[in-house]
Amino acid sequence: DPCCAAPLPVLGRDVTVPLVTGGEVTYAALDYAASAPALQRVWDDVAAYAPYYGSVHRGAGYLSQLSTDLFENARRTVADFLGCREGDQVVFTRSTTDSLNLLAAALPADCQVFVFETEHHASLLPWRDARVTYLDAPRTHDEAVHTLERALADREPYGPALVCVTGASNVTGELWPVRELAAAAHAHGARIVLDAAQLAPHHPVDIADLDVDWVAFSGHKLYAPFGSGVLAGRADWLQAADPYLAGGGASRKVARRADGGVDVEWHDTAARHEAGSPNVIGAYSIASACKALQEAGFDGLVERERHLIRTVREGLAAVPQVRVLSLFGDDAPRVGVISFVVDGWNSSHFAAALSAEYGIGVRDGLFCAHPLVRTLLGGASDEPGECGAPEAAPGERSLNAIRVSFGAGTPDEHVERFVRAVG
Ligand code: PMP
Repeated sequence: DPCCAAPLPVLGRDVTVPLVTGGEVTYAALDYAASAPALQRVWDDVAAYAPYYGSVHRGAGYLSQLSTDLFENARRTVADFLGCREGDQVVFTRSTTDSLNLLAAALPADCQVFVFETEHHASLLPWRDARVTYLDAPRTHDEAVHTLERALADREPYGPALVCVTGASNVTGELWPVRELAAAAHAHGARIVLDAAQLAPHHPVDIADLDVDWVAFSGHKLYAPFGSGVLAGRADWLQAADPYLAGGGASRKVARRADGGVDVEWHDTAARHEAGSPNVIGAYSIASACKALQEAGFDGLVERERHLIRTVREGLAAVPQVRVLSLFGDDAPRVGVISFVVDGWNSSHFAAALSAEYGIGVRDGLFCAHPLVRTLLGGASDEPGECGAPEAAPGERSLNAIRVSFGAGTPDEHVERFVRAVG
């Protein structure tokens, strides 16, 4: 049955691609978890602003002033979108990866970091200079909370600690018990950063309500173009840290010293970590996407996505050779990100066939979450290339998986075509 709400208009919805079988078909973009198409509305907003483009923070001219206002308003829009608390900072970054590396660079001395092995590499790897405890993959939400509680209880009781957790897995699409993990972290004197790269495009993320200390997400997964991201949350660690990049914009005052050196006073606002000319268009397009999603209303988007998830899951369940990857089981709440393997098929060949024969774009590989995918595939040990995996030899078990993902711009026809193709 068709869903009530219409998909939001996105770029690329009329793109046609050739099929190996002859003819062409409209492209079915089912790789939203990697990068979602930009909303038409975001594109229109950027096009309307483009003639007024000017440097921010430094120019006296009208267009510089206007651009500065738009840039700072974008910050407020994002703060509103995330339900930021009084005193929280919104730092514009390049991506979620950049946001988490920024936070990693701002950790206080002797900070202990706790992270589940199931994280995307962007959340798993930036902490290598800190003392990191990697937690085993849990199989229930309760187990996740207890695993974290045990690890935190075992830690040295003094000194700062940070937990990093995903809101929705980029592999299974499953939601994590963020509120409960945040409560556990705080009960043990730790802080928590939420990797919302996959959650924010699908569900409202309220930093105060979830009671997390920071949130990171990427514009290009939230229906804005590439190149911009956000780290939002507590100001204190960010203000106390050295600037992420040294340069203009981050510095309030620079002066030569009598001994010939240079003294620098750094800003203690978000500008401290935004040295250089910022990506104004990127920030502006993130803000535009936030407004578009708020205006469309998450209730309708979630309901529509549920319908699409049901269509895909029922379609996959009807094919005996398909195994859907899951940590928390069939009933776990999830977003529109579903990974699976097909018996007798190499996942890369399967994904290539979906593209060549049906014009469907999915992803295959280990999804930059190698430990998680290995756990889900039953511990296949291999030496994968960059976020990918080598091909399984003929007859061997697949070393990687296929991921289908969708969202606010996905028409029913795309998931129906996918189900037909897999069947
Ligand atoms: N975290 C998660 C859960 C992700 O899915 C991704 C992107 N696949 C990232 C972090 C990294 O995002 P980006 O590549 O935009 O930095």
